[in-house]
Amino acid sequence: MSELVWDEGMSVGIDAIDEDHKQIIAILAKLSSKRCHDISNKVIEDIFRELEIYVELHFNREERLLEKANYKDLIKHKASHQKFIDELPKLKEQWLSEDNNMCCEKITSFLNHWLVNHILKEDFDYIGALQNSTDLDVQQLNKAGNSIANGLLNRIENNSLLARFSRIISKKIKLNIRVFFIAFIPIFGVLLLSILVIKDNYQEYKNKTLLLSLNNIIMQVDNVSHSLQSERGLSSGVVSTNNQSLVNALLKQRLVTDQAMKQLFSLLENEIDPSVQENIHSYFELVRLNIEKLNDYRHNLDSQSERFPEVYNSYTLLIQHLLSISENLTDVDMTSSLANNISAINSMLLFKEYMGQIRAIGMNMVQGNNDDIYSNLDVSLLVGQQLHALRVFKSSANNQQIKACADFCHETKYIAMLKQLFFHTMNDHAMDEKSQYWFDSMSKKIDDLKVITGTLTLNLNNTVTAESQSLRLKYFAIFVALSVFLLVMILFSSILNFSIINPIRRITYALNNMSKGNLTVHLEPPTIDDEIGSIKTACEELRRKLLQVGIFKSVVDSQKKELAHTKSQQEHFKMLAYTDALTGAVNRHQFNSVLDEEILRANREHQDLSILMLDIDNFKKINDTFGHGIGDEVLVMFYNTCKKFARNDDVVARIGGEEFVIVLPKTNSQSAYQFADRLREQIQDIDIFVDDNTLKFTVSIGVSQWNDDVFSNAVDFVADADKLLYKAKNKGKNRVISA
Ligand code: GH3
Ligand code: MG
Ligand code: MG
Repeated sequence: MSELVWDEGMSVGIDAIDEDHKQIIAILAKLSSKRCHDISNKVIEDIFRELEIYVELHFNREERLLEKANYKDLIKHKASHQKFIDELPKLKEQWLSEDNNMCCEKITSFLNHWLVNHILKEDFDYIGALQNSTDLDVQQLNKAGNSIANGLLNRIENNSLLARFSRIISKKIKLNIRVFFIAFIPIFGVLLLSILVIKDNYQEYKNKTLLLSLNNIIMQVDNVSHSLQSERGLSSGVVSTNNQSLVNALLKQRLVTDQAMKQLFSLLENEIDPSVQENIHSYFELVRLNIEKLNDYRHNLDSQSERFPEVYNSYTLLIQHLLSISENLTDVDMTSSLANNISAINSMLLFKEYMGQIRAIGMNMVQGNNDDIYSNLDVSLLVGQQLHALRVFKSSANNQQIKACADFCHETKYIAMLKQLFFHTMNDHAMDEKSQYWFDSMSKKIDDLKVITGTLTLNLNNTVTAESQSLRLKYFAIFVALSVFLLVMILFSSILNFSIINPIRRITYALNNMSKGNLTVHLEPPTIDDEIGSIKTACEELRRKLLQVGIFKSVVDSQKKELAHTKSQQEHFKMLAYTDALTGAVNRHQFNSVLDEEILRANREHQDLSILMLDIDNFKKINDTFGHGIGDEVLVMFYNTCKKFARNDDVVARIGGEEFVIVLPKTNSQSAYQFADRLREQIQDIDIFVDDNTLKFTVSIGVSQWNDDVFSNAVDFVADADKLLYKAKNKGKNRVISA
């Protein structure tokens, strides 16, 4: 009988349970190891008792453990245990009552199958619940079990802190979500970083735009103040000399001033940033107020109702308000190094304004006799302020701006130039030319300064525009790089998804099918030899192995069937050799050996032995009247009646056409006679319906008892019975004659 043996692959990871399983296997081995007849009933009862006790012990242990682990299928598991416990006594009874090899093999095979199913199916189902259990006892058992059962796994598994952390996370989050995070966390990170960079760059870009608009204002302020400065100088000249050419120049200059003023106002009102507007609002209002007064100054001047100091002060105040606008632009909230450059330009504007004031004071001074310009306290003060403005300029200007400043930044040269110019005006020119010469010379210098401030603002404009453009380019580059990066990341995350999640789903599908016995799901060969590829290969190999086993099993099954068929055919042929084909009775040949054996036994055991020699009466007539077919039916009916009437140990043989012998072991001639006569009566009562007729037949029987002293062999014995039959025939048939 096939014997179940323990395999380490059957371990459920818990020592106590594994030991139980081993023990039950050992008990079953006692049943399987011997042939049925070799075990006495007592031994069987002992083995079954041991099995019952051990199985119950094991089930109790298992159920207690599963209760602690809150196993969800505990009720089902318990029911399966109970069913088996109920089954055991029945199996024992069956074994004891039937007591043949087939039955024993069936029972041991059932027990082995049940145990394998119990371990590999039912017990393996609860391993997950035990491993996830929070119960300390269960965890303790798990640990002990895992350390042995999973020894090899532990050796190949990484147990670092990171690996343990990963396992905890893996228990909480599904694989597809983990892959999603792996793919998208870098995307989110890059997006966040890009937003920060873009925000920073955008602020810088905004500052640049602001700077450009401030520079624009400064340019316009410079234009207006320059024109007002000229107007102030010319007005001063007109008041002190009333020179006609100065008057004409003044009228022209007023038009230039008005034009420049209009442009500035339109810029301040419409085109500048609200934050800038807010900062310079009060100065702008002051300029507006003073500009409104400008026409009054001009009118007073023209009607000569105004003296020089008033005119000078009015213009100067207006120009200062104007310059305050540009000065206050540096207060605008702007984090750019270029803000310093604006301060430098403002210093140069102030420097220029002071020069304009000196020009105006000079226009008045040329009427006197003093040829030293620095004898005038106001001029000295103004030059002092100019020097201060120059220092501010130098400290805040960049190299390019300082270069543009040229000789004006050279303090001593400038002081000397001014002194020399006034001296030259006073000593080298006639009285009526002095004011014109001074005005023209100073205006030339101021125009030079205007070119410098123009260059400064233009340079700043160019620098800021270039920087804005490079920022815009940077923006574009970041946008393009980010888009490409995002596309690549999305592509790679999709690849990750397709190359991990999808194959795993396919493998799971194939494995699920395999577990249900469907081995038709193929896994295409891996295109690359990576981890997933190895799983696929292993899974496909498993499928083929299972398929092989299945095919092999079906081949073996069909071979077994064929073998069984051949065996039954052989038995059939054997039976045909021993029996009569028509009736199934023992044939003549077999009858001879049966009779020889019975004679030997009767002699050996001193038992009685009788035979009946039977011959159907007038059988030829039956054949002739009803046909051979009906004759055959009569023969079969006759045999069946004899067989039914005979005991199990009696042998009914057909030794001729309608001649039969019945061997009656342990029977004397008297009993044999009674038996024969009852059989004869039975036969004559048989009715066979053929069409509308009823066929009846009878039998004649000779009865002989074996007598060791009279008969020397079976032939003599049969001849005696035949002789008695012949007597019965002669005496009129349908009768029994015994010696
Ligand atoms: P008796 O009463 O003296 O025994 O007369 P009988 O006609 O029974 O005896 P007989 O020996 O003259 O005839 C036997 C017949 O049985 C002859 C034969 O045709 C027929 N017979 C022999 N074997 C078979 C058989 O297998 N089937 C059928 N239908 N007839 C058979
Ligand atoms: Mg006959
Ligand atoms: Mg005959």
